[in-house]
Amino acid sequence: MFERAFRAWVCAVFLSWMCAAAQVPTHADILRGEYGPYRANNDLLFYHLDVRVDPEKKFIGGKNTIRFRMLKDGTRIQLDLHEALHVDKILLGSTALHYERDSGAVFVDFPETLRAGRVYTIDFYYSGYPVETGRFGGIAFRKDPSGHAWVNTACEGIGASVWWPNKDQWRDEVENMQISVSIPNGMVDVSNGRFMGKTDLGDGYTRWDWRVHYPINNYDVSLNIGNYQHFADRLGNLPLDFYALPEDLDKAKKQFVQAKGMLEAFQHYFGKYPFRKDGYKLIEVPYAGMEHQSAVTYGNHFANGYLERDWTGVGISPRFDFIIVHESAHEWFGNSITAADMSDMWIHEGWATYLECLYVEYMWGREDGLKYTNGYKSKVRNAQPIIAPRGVNSEPPQDMYFKGALFLNTLRSVVNDDLRWWALIRGFYQRFKYRNIMTEDMVEYFNRETGTNLTPVFDQYLRHTALPTLELTFDDAQGTVRYRWKADEPAFAMPVGVGTKDHSQIIRPTTEWQTMKTPLPRDRFEVATDLYYVNVAKK
Ligand SMILES: [Zn+2]
Repeated sequence: MFERAFRAWVCAVFLSWMCAAAQVPTHADILRGEYGPYRANNDLLFYHLDVRVDPEKKFIGGKNTIRFRMLKDGTRIQLDLHEALHVDKILLGSTALHYERDSGAVFVDFPETLRAGRVYTIDFYYSGYPVETGRFGGIAFRKDPSGHAWVNTACEGIGASVWWPNKDQWRDEVENMQISVSIPNGMVDVSNGRFMGKTDLGDGYTRWDWRVHYPINNYDVSLNIGNYQHFADRLGNLPLDFYALPEDLDKAKKQFVQAKGMLEAFQHYFGKYPFRKDGYKLIEVPYAGMEHQSAVTYGNHFANGYLERDWTGVGISPRFDFIIVHESAHEWFGNSITAADMSDMWIHEGWATYLECLYVEYMWGREDGLKYTNGYKSKVRNAQPIIAPRGVNSEPPQDMYFKGALFLNTLRSVVNDDLRWWALIRGFYQRFKYRNIMTEDMVEYFNRETGTNLTPVFDQYLRHTALPTLELTFDDAQGTVRYRWKADEPAFAMPVGVGTKDHSQIIRPTTEWQTMKTPLPRDRFEVATDLYYVNVAKK
Protein backbone atom coordinates (compact mmCIF):
# COMPACT_ATOMS: atom_id res chain seq x y z
CA MET A 1 0.00 0.00 0.00
CA PHE A 2 2.74 2.46 0.97
CA GLU A 3 4.89 1.56 -1.98
CA ARG A 4 2.00 2.13 -4.37
CA ALA A 5 1.05 5.42 -2.79
CA PHE A 6 4.67 6.55 -2.75
CA ARG A 7 5.23 5.61 -6.37
CA ALA A 8 2.06 7.41 -7.38
CA TRP A 9 3.27 10.53 -5.59
CA VAL A 10 6.72 10.36 -7.17
CA CYS A 11 5.15 9.94 -10.59
CA ALA A 12 2.87 12.91 -10.10
CA VAL A 13 5.42 15.30 -8.69
CA PHE A 14 8.79 14.63 -10.28
CA LEU A 15 8.88 11.95 -12.87
CA SER A 16 5.53 11.66 -14.56
CA TRP A 17 7.08 11.67 -18.03
CA MET A 18 9.64 9.08 -17.05
CA CYS A 19 7.15 6.75 -15.37
CA ALA A 20 4.86 6.92 -18.39
CA ALA A 21 7.67 6.25 -20.83
CA ALA A 22 9.12 3.28 -18.98
CA GLN A 23 6.13 1.25 -17.80
CA VAL A 24 7.53 -1.49 -15.66
CA PRO A 25 6.19 -4.87 -16.80
CA THR A 26 4.40 -6.82 -14.08
CA HIS A 27 5.25 -10.39 -13.10
CA ALA A 28 2.09 -11.51 -14.93
CA ASP A 29 3.14 -9.59 -18.08
CA ILE A 30 6.51 -11.31 -18.07
CA LEU A 31 4.88 -14.73 -17.62
CA ARG A 32 2.52 -13.99 -20.53
CA GLY A 33 5.01 -12.18 -22.75
CA GLU A 34 8.30 -13.99 -22.32
CA TYR A 35 9.12 -17.01 -24.45
CA GLY A 36 10.55 -18.69 -21.37
CA PRO A 37 12.31 -22.08 -21.05
CA TYR A 38 9.09 -24.03 -20.44
CA ARG A 39 7.63 -22.65 -23.65
CA ALA A 40 10.80 -22.86 -25.72
CA ASN A 41 11.34 -26.54 -24.87
CA ASN A 42 8.34 -27.63 -26.98
CA ASP A 43 6.66 -27.04 -30.34
CA LEU A 44 2.87 -27.06 -30.66
CA LEU A 45 1.34 -29.44 -33.19
CA PHE A 46 -2.39 -29.69 -32.57
CA TYR A 47 -5.27 -28.61 -30.34
CA HIS A 48 -8.69 -30.14 -30.04
CA LEU A 49 -10.72 -27.64 -28.06
CA ASP A 50 -13.92 -29.38 -26.96
CA VAL A 51 -16.17 -27.19 -24.81
CA ARG A 52 -19.73 -26.95 -23.57
CA VAL A 53 -21.17 -23.47 -23.20
CA ASP A 54 -24.20 -22.62 -21.07
CA PRO A 55 -25.25 -19.15 -22.25
CA GLU A 56 -27.78 -18.64 -19.45
CA LYS A 57 -25.38 -19.52 -16.63
CA LYS A 58 -22.47 -17.82 -18.47
CA PHE A 59 -20.51 -20.98 -17.86
CA ILE A 60 -17.92 -22.81 -19.95
CA GLY A 61 -16.26 -26.16 -19.39
CA GLY A 62 -14.51 -28.93 -21.28
CA LYS A 63 -11.03 -29.82 -22.36
CA ASN A 64 -8.24 -28.93 -24.70
CA THR A 65 -6.28 -31.86 -26.08
CA ILE A 66 -2.78 -30.50 -26.69
CA ARG A 67 -0.24 -32.30 -28.86
CA PHE A 68 3.34 -31.04 -28.92
CA ARG A 69 6.85 -32.15 -29.83
CA MET A 70 9.58 -31.73 -27.24
CA LEU A 71 12.58 -29.79 -28.57
CA LYS A 72 14.69 -30.41 -25.46
CA ASP A 73 14.51 -33.02 -22.74
CA GLY A 74 12.39 -31.69 -19.88
CA THR A 75 9.89 -32.41 -17.13
CA ARG A 76 7.90 -29.16 -17.22
CA ILE A 77 5.98 -27.09 -19.77
CA GLN A 78 4.15 -23.77 -19.45
CA LEU A 79 0.51 -23.38 -20.47
CA ASP A 80 -1.85 -20.55 -19.60
CA LEU A 81 -5.35 -20.19 -18.18
CA HIS A 82 -6.98 -17.10 -16.66
CA GLU A 83 -7.12 -17.19 -12.87
CA ALA A 84 -10.93 -16.97 -12.91
CA LEU A 85 -11.15 -20.45 -14.47
CA HIS A 86 -10.70 -23.72 -12.62
CA VAL A 87 -8.22 -26.43 -13.65
CA ASP A 88 -10.21 -29.66 -13.24
CA LYS A 89 -7.41 -32.06 -14.14
CA ILE A 90 -4.55 -32.48 -16.60
CA LEU A 91 -3.96 -35.98 -17.95
CA LEU A 92 -1.14 -37.69 -19.84
CA GLY A 93 -2.99 -40.82 -20.95
CA SER A 94 -4.62 -41.85 -17.68
CA THR A 95 -1.93 -40.30 -15.47
CA ALA A 96 -3.00 -37.15 -13.63
CA LEU A 97 -0.25 -34.54 -13.84
CA HIS A 98 0.79 -32.13 -11.14
CA TYR A 99 0.69 -28.47 -11.97
CA GLU A 100 1.48 -25.12 -10.40
CA ARG A 101 -0.47 -21.95 -11.08
CA ASP A 102 1.19 -18.53 -11.08
CA SER A 103 -1.15 -15.69 -12.09
CA GLY A 104 -2.22 -16.67 -15.63
CA ALA A 105 0.43 -19.36 -16.12
CA VAL A 106 -0.05 -23.07 -15.48
CA PHE A 107 3.24 -24.97 -15.14
CA VAL A 108 2.60 -28.65 -15.88
CA ASP A 109 5.02 -31.20 -14.38
CA PHE A 110 5.63 -34.68 -15.76
CA PRO A 111 6.63 -37.66 -13.60
CA GLU A 112 9.25 -38.75 -16.16
CA THR A 113 11.49 -36.78 -18.47
CA LEU A 114 9.91 -35.95 -21.83
CA ARG A 115 12.43 -36.64 -24.56
CA ALA A 116 13.49 -34.24 -27.29
CA GLY A 117 12.00 -35.18 -30.66
CA ARG A 118 9.11 -37.19 -29.20
CA VAL A 119 5.46 -36.21 -29.54
CA TYR A 120 3.21 -36.07 -26.46
CA THR A 121 -0.51 -35.47 -26.00
CA ILE A 122 -2.18 -34.19 -22.85
CA ASP A 123 -5.82 -33.46 -22.00
CA PHE A 124 -6.36 -30.23 -20.08
CA TYR A 125 -9.81 -30.19 -18.40
CA TYR A 126 -11.17 -26.89 -17.11
CA SER A 127 -14.40 -25.12 -16.20
CA GLY A 128 -15.81 -21.97 -14.72
CA TYR A 129 -17.28 -18.53 -15.21
CA PRO A 130 -14.93 -16.52 -17.44
CA VAL A 131 -14.61 -12.80 -16.74
CA GLU A 132 -15.64 -10.27 -19.35
CA THR A 133 -12.57 -8.11 -19.86
CA GLY A 134 -10.40 -6.39 -22.46
CA ARG A 135 -11.27 -4.23 -25.45
CA PHE A 136 -14.02 -6.46 -26.89
CA GLY A 137 -14.93 -8.46 -23.79
CA GLY A 138 -12.60 -11.48 -24.17
CA ILE A 139 -15.68 -13.69 -24.01
CA ALA A 140 -19.01 -11.92 -23.71
CA PHE A 141 -22.36 -13.43 -22.84
CA ARG A 142 -24.96 -11.04 -24.28
CA LYS A 143 -28.51 -10.99 -25.65
CA ASP A 144 -29.34 -9.99 -29.21
CA PRO A 145 -31.99 -7.28 -29.77
CA SER A 146 -34.77 -9.91 -29.87
CA GLY A 147 -33.67 -11.43 -26.58
CA HIS A 148 -31.82 -14.55 -27.79
CA ALA A 149 -28.53 -15.47 -26.14
CA TRP A 150 -25.49 -14.18 -28.07
CA VAL A 151 -22.04 -15.34 -26.97
CA ASN A 152 -18.90 -14.08 -28.74
CA THR A 153 -15.19 -14.17 -28.15
CA ALA A 154 -12.64 -11.47 -29.06
CA CYS A 155 -9.53 -11.79 -26.96
CA GLU A 156 -6.52 -10.33 -28.79
CA GLY A 157 -4.54 -8.41 -26.18
CA ILE A 158 -6.03 -9.99 -23.07
CA GLY A 159 -5.21 -13.39 -24.58
CA ALA A 160 -7.07 -16.57 -25.49
CA SER A 161 -6.41 -18.05 -22.05
CA VAL A 162 -9.17 -15.73 -20.81
CA TRP A 163 -11.59 -18.46 -21.97
CA TRP A 164 -9.61 -21.64 -22.80
CA PRO A 165 -6.33 -23.29 -21.76
CA ASN A 166 -3.48 -23.05 -24.29
CA LYS A 167 0.14 -21.99 -24.77
CA ASP A 168 -0.84 -18.33 -24.83
CA GLN A 169 1.88 -16.53 -26.79
CA TRP A 170 2.47 -15.55 -30.42
CA ARG A 171 5.65 -17.36 -31.48
CA ASP A 172 4.36 -20.92 -31.64
CA GLU A 173 1.18 -22.04 -33.40
CA VAL A 174 -0.46 -25.42 -33.81
CA GLU A 175 -0.31 -26.80 -37.35
CA ASN A 176 -4.04 -27.43 -37.38
CA MET A 177 -6.92 -27.63 -34.95
CA GLN A 178 -10.30 -29.06 -34.19
CA ILE A 179 -13.00 -27.06 -32.40
CA SER A 180 -16.08 -28.73 -30.90
CA VAL A 181 -18.69 -26.55 -29.26
CA SER A 182 -21.71 -27.99 -27.46
CA ILE A 183 -24.58 -25.54 -27.08
CA PRO A 184 -28.32 -25.70 -26.35
CA ASN A 185 -30.35 -27.17 -29.22
CA GLY A 186 -31.64 -24.59 -31.69
CA MET A 187 -28.64 -22.26 -31.39
CA VAL A 188 -25.86 -21.95 -33.96
CA ASP A 189 -22.10 -21.89 -33.32
CA VAL A 190 -19.77 -20.43 -35.93
CA SER A 191 -16.09 -21.07 -35.24
CA ASN A 192 -12.96 -21.07 -37.41
CA GLY A 193 -12.27 -23.51 -40.20
CA ARG A 194 -14.54 -25.80 -42.15
CA PHE A 195 -17.88 -26.88 -40.71
CA MET A 196 -17.73 -30.68 -40.31
CA GLY A 197 -21.25 -31.31 -38.99
CA LYS A 198 -23.33 -31.26 -35.83
CA THR A 199 -24.42 -34.00 -33.46
CA ASP A 200 -27.46 -34.02 -31.20
CA LEU A 201 -26.11 -35.12 -27.82
CA GLY A 202 -29.57 -36.16 -26.58
CA ASP A 203 -29.40 -34.01 -23.44
CA GLY A 204 -30.75 -30.79 -24.87
CA TYR A 205 -27.34 -29.89 -26.34
CA THR A 206 -25.90 -30.15 -29.85
CA ARG A 207 -22.20 -30.32 -30.65
CA TRP A 208 -20.91 -28.25 -33.58
CA ASP A 209 -17.61 -29.49 -35.07
CA TRP A 210 -15.15 -27.32 -36.99
CA ARG A 211 -11.76 -28.21 -38.46
CA VAL A 212 -8.99 -25.67 -39.03
CA HIS A 213 -6.57 -26.92 -41.72
CA TYR A 214 -3.83 -24.30 -41.14
CA PRO A 215 -1.69 -22.81 -38.38
CA ILE A 216 -3.78 -20.42 -36.26
CA ASN A 217 -3.10 -17.75 -33.59
CA ASN A 218 -4.61 -18.53 -30.20
CA TYR A 219 -6.49 -15.23 -30.13
CA ASP A 220 -8.06 -15.99 -33.54
CA VAL A 221 -9.80 -19.09 -32.18
CA SER A 222 -13.40 -18.04 -31.70
CA LEU A 223 -16.91 -18.94 -30.71
CA ASN A 224 -19.93 -17.13 -32.11
CA ILE A 225 -23.05 -18.61 -30.58
CA GLY A 226 -26.38 -17.08 -31.48
CA ASN A 227 -29.63 -17.15 -33.39
CA TYR A 228 -27.75 -16.96 -36.69
CA GLN A 229 -29.14 -17.31 -40.19
CA HIS A 230 -26.75 -18.55 -42.84
CA PHE A 231 -26.38 -17.69 -46.51
CA ALA A 232 -23.65 -18.68 -48.92
CA ASP A 233 -21.89 -17.61 -52.08
CA ARG A 234 -18.68 -18.50 -53.92
CA LEU A 235 -15.74 -16.67 -55.43
CA GLY A 236 -14.49 -19.15 -58.02
CA ASN A 237 -14.12 -22.33 -55.98
CA LEU A 238 -13.70 -20.49 -52.64
CA PRO A 239 -16.77 -20.98 -50.42
CA LEU A 240 -18.06 -17.77 -48.83
CA ASP A 241 -20.35 -18.24 -45.83
CA PHE A 242 -22.22 -15.45 -44.13
CA TYR A 243 -24.01 -15.41 -40.78
CA ALA A 244 -26.36 -12.67 -39.55
CA LEU A 245 -29.27 -12.28 -37.14
CA PRO A 246 -32.66 -12.81 -38.86
CA GLU A 247 -33.61 -9.13 -38.45
CA ASP A 248 -30.40 -8.06 -40.24
CA LEU A 249 -30.43 -10.67 -42.99
CA ASP A 250 -31.53 -8.34 -45.83
CA LYS A 251 -28.99 -5.69 -44.87
CA ALA A 252 -26.26 -8.34 -44.61
CA LYS A 253 -27.09 -9.74 -48.06
CA LYS A 254 -26.54 -6.25 -49.54
CA GLN A 255 -23.47 -5.24 -47.53
CA PHE A 256 -21.55 -8.52 -47.54
CA VAL A 257 -21.39 -8.46 -51.36
CA GLN A 258 -18.33 -6.26 -50.77
CA ALA A 259 -16.40 -9.31 -49.55
CA LYS A 260 -15.90 -10.35 -53.20
CA GLY A 261 -14.24 -7.12 -54.35
CA MET A 262 -12.07 -7.16 -51.23
CA LEU A 263 -10.92 -10.74 -51.89
CA GLU A 264 -10.24 -9.95 -55.56
CA ALA A 265 -8.16 -6.90 -54.64
CA PHE A 266 -5.97 -8.69 -52.08
CA GLN A 267 -5.59 -11.81 -54.25
CA HIS A 268 -4.47 -9.47 -57.06
CA TYR A 269 -1.65 -7.99 -54.94
CA PHE A 270 -0.57 -10.93 -52.78
CA GLY A 271 -1.83 -14.19 -54.23
CA LYS A 272 -4.51 -16.65 -53.24
CA TYR A 273 -6.67 -16.26 -50.14
CA PRO A 274 -4.58 -18.13 -47.54
CA PHE A 275 -7.22 -20.39 -45.97
CA ARG A 276 -8.96 -21.93 -48.98
CA LYS A 277 -9.74 -25.30 -47.34
CA ASP A 278 -11.43 -23.46 -44.47
CA GLY A 279 -13.37 -21.03 -46.69
CA TYR A 280 -14.07 -17.38 -45.91
CA LYS A 281 -16.76 -16.41 -43.41
CA LEU A 282 -18.27 -13.12 -42.21
CA ILE A 283 -20.22 -13.26 -38.96
CA GLU A 284 -22.35 -10.54 -37.38
CA VAL A 285 -21.31 -9.65 -33.80
CA PRO A 286 -22.19 -6.93 -31.26
CA TYR A 287 -18.72 -5.25 -31.38
CA ALA A 288 -16.96 -3.50 -34.30
CA GLY A 289 -15.10 -6.50 -35.74
CA MET A 290 -12.14 -8.81 -35.47
CA GLU A 291 -9.93 -10.75 -37.85
CA HIS A 292 -10.67 -14.26 -36.52
CA GLN A 293 -8.99 -16.56 -39.05
CA SER A 294 -11.40 -17.67 -41.83
CA ALA A 295 -14.24 -16.43 -39.57
CA VAL A 296 -14.01 -12.64 -39.67
CA THR A 297 -16.46 -10.97 -37.31
CA TYR A 298 -18.45 -7.92 -38.30
CA GLY A 299 -20.29 -5.23 -36.31
CA ASN A 300 -20.05 -2.17 -38.57
CA HIS A 301 -23.82 -1.40 -38.75
CA PHE A 302 -24.08 -2.69 -42.36
CA ALA A 303 -22.93 0.72 -43.52
CA ASN A 304 -19.88 2.07 -45.34
CA GLY A 305 -17.09 3.92 -43.52
CA TYR A 306 -16.17 2.94 -39.97
CA LEU A 307 -19.14 2.95 -37.59
CA GLU A 308 -20.84 5.30 -40.07
CA ARG A 309 -17.97 7.83 -39.94
CA ASP A 310 -15.67 9.00 -42.74
CA TRP A 311 -12.69 7.23 -41.16
CA THR A 312 -9.79 9.10 -42.79
CA GLY A 313 -11.81 12.29 -43.35
CA VAL A 314 -11.08 12.75 -47.05
CA GLY A 315 -14.36 11.53 -48.57
CA ILE A 316 -13.13 8.08 -49.68
CA SER A 317 -13.96 5.96 -46.64
CA PRO A 318 -17.76 6.30 -47.27
CA ARG A 319 -17.34 4.31 -50.51
CA PHE A 320 -16.63 0.98 -48.75
CA ASP A 321 -17.15 -0.99 -45.57
CA PHE A 322 -14.04 -0.39 -43.45
CA ILE A 323 -14.49 -3.50 -41.29
CA ILE A 324 -14.93 -5.93 -44.20
CA VAL A 325 -11.75 -4.57 -45.82
CA HIS A 326 -9.52 -4.00 -42.76
CA GLU A 327 -10.35 -7.16 -40.80
CA SER A 328 -10.17 -9.38 -43.87
CA ALA A 329 -6.81 -7.84 -44.85
CA HIS A 330 -5.52 -9.55 -41.69
CA GLU A 331 -6.08 -12.94 -43.36
CA TRP A 332 -2.87 -12.14 -45.28
CA PHE A 333 -1.10 -10.00 -42.64
CA GLY A 334 -1.80 -11.08 -39.07
CA ASN A 335 -3.20 -14.57 -39.67
CA SER A 336 -1.11 -16.01 -42.49
CA ILE A 337 1.99 -13.92 -41.73
CA THR A 338 2.03 -13.40 -37.96
CA ALA A 339 4.35 -11.44 -35.69
CA ALA A 340 6.25 -13.73 -33.32
CA ASP A 341 5.93 -11.22 -30.46
CA MET A 342 3.26 -8.63 -29.72
CA SER A 343 6.00 -5.94 -29.81
CA ASP A 344 6.01 -6.25 -33.64
CA MET A 345 2.24 -6.13 -34.07
CA TRP A 346 2.70 -3.43 -36.74
CA ILE A 347 3.30 -6.41 -39.08
CA HIS A 348 -0.43 -7.03 -38.58
CA GLU A 349 -1.83 -3.54 -38.22
CA GLY A 350 0.52 -1.41 -40.34
CA TRP A 351 0.19 -3.85 -43.21
CA ALA A 352 -3.59 -4.30 -42.83
CA THR A 353 -3.97 -0.50 -42.88
CA TYR A 354 -1.73 -0.33 -45.95
CA LEU A 355 -3.91 -3.01 -47.56
CA GLU A 356 -6.90 -0.67 -47.13
CA CYS A 357 -4.92 1.87 -49.17
CA LEU A 358 -4.18 -0.78 -51.81
CA TYR A 359 -7.86 -1.72 -51.89
CA VAL A 360 -8.74 1.93 -52.61
CA GLU A 361 -6.08 2.05 -55.33
CA TYR A 362 -7.34 -1.21 -56.88
CA MET A 363 -10.96 0.02 -56.91
CA TRP A 364 -10.57 3.74 -57.70
CA GLY A 365 -7.01 4.36 -58.84
CA ARG A 366 -3.67 5.66 -57.64
CA GLU A 367 -4.76 9.23 -56.88
CA ASP A 368 -7.57 8.18 -54.54
CA GLY A 369 -5.29 5.59 -52.96
CA LEU A 370 -2.78 8.31 -52.12
CA LYS A 371 -5.48 10.64 -50.86
CA TYR A 372 -6.85 7.92 -48.57
CA THR A 373 -3.34 7.04 -47.32
CA ASN A 374 -2.45 10.65 -46.52
CA GLY A 375 -5.77 11.06 -44.72
CA TYR A 376 -4.19 8.89 -42.03
CA LYS A 377 -1.63 11.61 -41.16
CA SER A 378 -4.21 13.32 -38.94
CA LYS A 379 -4.25 10.23 -36.69
CA VAL A 380 -0.48 9.87 -36.17
CA ARG A 381 0.95 11.00 -32.82
CA ASN A 382 4.72 10.31 -33.15
CA ALA A 383 4.83 9.98 -29.35
CA GLN A 384 6.15 6.41 -28.93
CA PRO A 385 8.06 4.07 -31.24
CA ILE A 386 5.89 1.69 -33.27
CA ILE A 387 7.83 -1.34 -32.03
CA ALA A 388 7.18 -1.93 -28.32
CA PRO A 389 9.50 -3.65 -25.80
CA ARG A 390 9.89 -7.33 -26.65
CA GLY A 391 8.86 -10.29 -24.51
CA VAL A 392 6.81 -8.41 -21.91
CA ASN A 393 3.29 -8.61 -23.37
CA SER A 394 3.45 -4.92 -24.36
CA GLU A 395 0.96 -3.69 -26.96
CA PRO A 396 2.41 -1.08 -29.33
CA PRO A 397 0.79 2.39 -29.69
CA GLN A 398 -1.87 3.20 -32.30
CA ASP A 399 0.80 4.62 -34.60
CA MET A 400 1.45 0.99 -35.62
CA TYR A 401 -1.67 1.32 -37.80
CA PHE A 402 -1.47 4.75 -39.39
CA LYS A 403 2.23 5.56 -39.31
CA GLY A 404 2.87 1.92 -40.24
CA ALA A 405 0.81 2.32 -43.44
CA LEU A 406 2.35 5.73 -44.22
CA PHE A 407 5.80 4.19 -43.77
CA LEU A 408 4.99 1.39 -46.26
CA ASN A 409 3.76 4.03 -48.71
CA THR A 410 7.09 5.84 -48.18
CA LEU A 411 8.98 2.61 -48.82
CA ARG A 412 7.15 2.28 -52.15
CA SER A 413 8.42 5.76 -53.09
CA VAL A 414 11.94 4.82 -52.01
CA VAL A 415 11.77 1.84 -54.40
CA ASN A 416 10.34 4.30 -56.97
CA ASP A 417 9.35 1.62 -59.48
CA ASP A 418 5.80 0.30 -59.11
CA LEU A 419 6.37 -2.92 -61.02
CA ARG A 420 9.25 -3.68 -58.70
CA TRP A 421 7.20 -2.68 -55.67
CA TRP A 422 4.32 -5.03 -56.60
CA ALA A 423 6.81 -7.88 -57.04
CA LEU A 424 8.52 -7.03 -53.74
CA ILE A 425 5.39 -7.01 -51.57
CA ARG A 426 3.95 -10.10 -53.27
CA GLY A 427 7.32 -11.83 -52.84
CA PHE A 428 7.43 -10.78 -49.18
CA TYR A 429 4.01 -12.27 -48.53
CA GLN A 430 4.75 -15.47 -50.43
CA ARG A 431 8.11 -15.89 -48.70
CA PHE A 432 6.69 -15.67 -45.17
CA LYS A 433 3.07 -16.91 -45.46
CA TYR A 434 1.91 -19.25 -42.65
CA ARG A 435 4.97 -18.19 -40.62
CA ASN A 436 5.66 -16.19 -37.46
CA ILE A 437 8.26 -13.50 -38.07
CA MET A 438 9.85 -10.41 -36.57
CA THR A 439 10.56 -7.03 -38.18
CA GLU A 440 14.18 -8.13 -38.69
CA ASP A 441 12.99 -10.82 -41.14
CA MET A 442 11.19 -8.17 -43.15
CA VAL A 443 14.16 -5.77 -43.12
CA GLU A 444 16.49 -8.55 -44.24
CA TYR A 445 14.13 -9.45 -47.09
CA PHE A 446 13.83 -5.85 -48.34
CA ASN A 447 17.57 -5.20 -47.99
CA ARG A 448 18.40 -8.31 -49.97
CA GLU A 449 15.76 -7.88 -52.66
CA THR A 450 16.48 -4.18 -53.24
CA GLY A 451 20.26 -4.51 -52.83
CA THR A 452 20.07 -1.45 -50.56
CA ASN A 453 20.74 -1.05 -46.85
CA LEU A 454 17.30 0.09 -45.73
CA THR A 455 17.89 -0.79 -42.06
CA PRO A 456 18.35 2.85 -40.93
CA VAL A 457 15.12 3.79 -42.75
CA PHE A 458 13.13 0.97 -41.09
CA ASP A 459 14.71 1.81 -37.73
CA GLN A 460 13.96 5.54 -37.95
CA TYR A 461 10.26 4.94 -38.65
CA LEU A 462 9.73 1.96 -36.36
CA ARG A 463 12.16 2.32 -33.45
CA HIS A 464 12.16 6.11 -32.92
CA THR A 465 9.32 8.52 -32.31
CA ALA A 466 10.24 11.44 -34.61
CA LEU A 467 9.80 11.54 -38.36
CA PRO A 468 12.93 12.31 -40.38
CA THR A 469 13.11 16.04 -41.18
CA LEU A 470 14.48 17.27 -44.50
CA GLU A 471 16.41 20.46 -43.69
CA LEU A 472 16.68 22.88 -46.61
CA THR A 473 18.77 26.07 -46.56
CA PHE A 474 18.31 28.33 -49.58
CA ASP A 475 20.77 30.78 -51.04
CA ASP A 476 18.62 32.68 -53.54
CA ALA A 477 21.55 34.86 -54.69
CA GLN A 478 23.62 31.79 -55.59
CA GLY A 479 20.57 29.81 -56.81
CA THR A 480 21.45 26.90 -54.55
CA VAL A 481 19.90 24.87 -51.78
CA ARG A 482 21.74 22.88 -49.12
CA TYR A 483 19.97 19.79 -47.82
CA ARG A 484 20.36 17.03 -45.28
CA TRP A 485 18.26 14.70 -43.12
CA LYS A 486 17.84 15.38 -39.43
CA ALA A 487 17.15 11.95 -37.94
CA ASP A 488 17.89 9.85 -34.88
CA GLU A 489 19.63 7.21 -37.00
CA PRO A 490 23.15 8.53 -37.78
CA ALA A 491 23.29 6.53 -41.03
CA PHE A 492 19.81 7.60 -42.15
CA ALA A 493 19.84 8.04 -45.94
CA MET A 494 16.68 8.13 -48.00
CA PRO A 495 15.94 9.45 -51.48
CA VAL A 496 13.13 11.98 -51.69
CA GLY A 497 11.26 13.77 -54.49
CA VAL A 498 11.65 17.56 -54.66
CA GLY A 499 10.94 20.41 -57.11
CA THR A 500 7.47 21.21 -58.39
CA LYS A 501 4.61 18.90 -59.37
CA ASP A 502 5.57 19.28 -63.06
CA HIS A 503 9.34 19.30 -62.67
CA SER A 504 10.30 16.96 -59.87
CA GLN A 505 13.55 15.16 -59.25
CA ILE A 506 14.85 12.62 -56.78
CA ILE A 507 17.66 13.77 -54.49
CA ARG A 508 19.61 11.50 -52.14
CA PRO A 509 20.11 13.31 -48.86
CA THR A 510 22.06 11.79 -45.98
CA THR A 511 22.67 13.28 -42.53
CA GLU A 512 25.57 15.30 -44.05
CA TRP A 513 25.00 18.59 -45.87
CA GLN A 514 24.98 18.52 -49.68
CA THR A 515 24.40 21.42 -52.09
CA MET A 516 22.52 21.54 -55.39
CA LYS A 517 21.61 24.18 -57.92
CA THR A 518 17.94 25.06 -58.16
CA PRO A 519 16.10 27.68 -60.20
CA LEU A 520 13.28 27.55 -57.64
CA PRO A 521 13.04 30.06 -54.80
CA ARG A 522 12.31 28.79 -51.31
CA ASP A 523 8.51 29.18 -51.50
CA ARG A 524 8.19 27.28 -54.81
CA PHE A 525 10.59 24.45 -53.91
CA GLU A 526 8.32 21.60 -52.84
CA VAL A 527 8.92 18.21 -51.23
CA ALA A 528 6.67 15.30 -52.27
CA THR A 529 5.30 14.75 -48.77
CA ASP A 530 2.33 12.78 -50.14
CA LEU A 531 4.77 10.11 -51.34
CA TYR A 532 7.31 10.35 -48.51
CA TYR A 533 6.07 10.75 -44.94
CA VAL A 534 8.64 13.29 -43.73
CA ASN A 535 8.88 16.70 -42.10
CA VAL A 536 10.37 19.63 -44.00
CA ALA A 537 12.24 22.57 -42.43
CA LYS A 538 13.11 25.43 -44.81
CA LYS A 539 15.51 28.25 -43.99
ZN1 LIG B 1 -6.46 -4.61 -37.46
